Amino acid sequence: MPATARRLAIFQESVIREMTRLANQHGSINLAQGFPDFDPPAELIEALERSARGPFHQYAITWGAPRFRQALAAKIARFGGPQLDPDRNLVVTCGSTEAMMVAMMTACEPGDKVVVFSPFYENYAADAILSGAEPIYVALRPPHFDFDPEELRRAFAQKPKALVLCNPSNPCGKVFTREELLFLLDLAREHDAFVLTDEVYEHIVYAPHRHIPFATLPGAEERTLTCGSLSKTYSITGWRLGYVAASERIIAQAKKVHDFLTVGAAAPLQEAAVTALEFPDSYYDQLLADYTRKRDLLLGYLAQTGLDYTIPQGAYYTLVDISPLGFADDRTAAEEITRTIGVTGVPGSSFFREPVHRYLRLHFAKKDETLHRAGERLAAKLRR
Ligand code: GLN
Repeated sequence: MPATARRLAIFQESVIREMTRLANQHGSINLAQGFPDFDPPAELIEALERSARGPFHQYAITWGAPRFRQALAAKIARFGGPQLDPDRNLVVTCGSTEAMMVAMMTACEPGDKVVVFSPFYENYAADAILSGAEPIYVALRPPHFDFDPEELRRAFAQKPKALVLCNPSNPCGKVFTREELLFLLDLAREHDAFVLTDEVYEHIVYAPHRHIPFATLPGAEERTLTCGSLSKTYSITGWRLGYVAASERIIAQAKKVHDFLTVGAAAPLQEAAVTALEFPDSYYDQLLADYTRKRDLLLGYLAQTGLDYTIPQGAYYTLVDISPLGFADDRTAAEEITRTIGVTGVPGSSFFREPVHRYLRLHFAKKDETLHRAGERLAAKLRR
């Protein structure tokens, strides 16, 4: 029998998505895979109904429907992002999952090294390996998830082709400061590396922290590929709308990768999503107010458990330190807590390169009532 590709043996299927299947199987509340259980804004659903009746049922232009790209460039500029030419600086992708794969394949040759912070969102290691590149890891050290500048310098001494930056960070909730970002940029410049950013939580940043789009740092544009998404901002993870933004030189190549990977993101959904991109600023204020409340709600219940947990500066995840509970490891804990308490999280070890088995990642992109139900169960039964 022919052997399947060797590179597939060095990474696993996503544990995040596996936990969703486990939650479904047990009828448990899914605080594992980060997606909302509430509907997107009603205007957006109406726009989808209109676009379904419009002439949008065939392929859009591969790198994105023109109206969508125009609205996207305008929205990015409106929130302090770079000024983008919709024809030259954007490729619309099937979610930021494809965007990161496109970014990786655009930047890297087989054999290249890619610096990834640990903990990290699972996809980055898999994307690097699928591109033929090798991830090398630099720790973000709990409890504040700072990096050691010397460790980062040592990683760059290995001549990586790119650094992956998830900001705001999944799973640890870190929002990088301007000083930290400038340090990363300096290193990338010095070693002539790309910076592949995942900024899908750009609008979910809690006061007093602020999101700084990496590409807006002076001199960053020529080496930055920004991956973004509509999934989290407009609660439409199933629409699979993401993008890569970069300079014309880079995008000319990224368009090719995207074209041969997927041809394009769904045309009627791009048309409908123009409505979202044109939402007034008040939409974003409300989104942040809602997530701030949801964060405080879930963390309030966690405080009753006596366990330690991270307070995210951005994104919608917390890492709960379950080590005092006496489970064999985090995987066992996730399964047992699913079975006995009816709340499912992701075993933290799936985000760490180092053997860290003390965390369960929970997310709070859920209706308040769902968070109350989950929180009551956790507060009642998850006692240290
Ligand atoms: N970003 C989400 C998470 O970390 C999941 C995204 C996905 O499964 N594609 O849970």
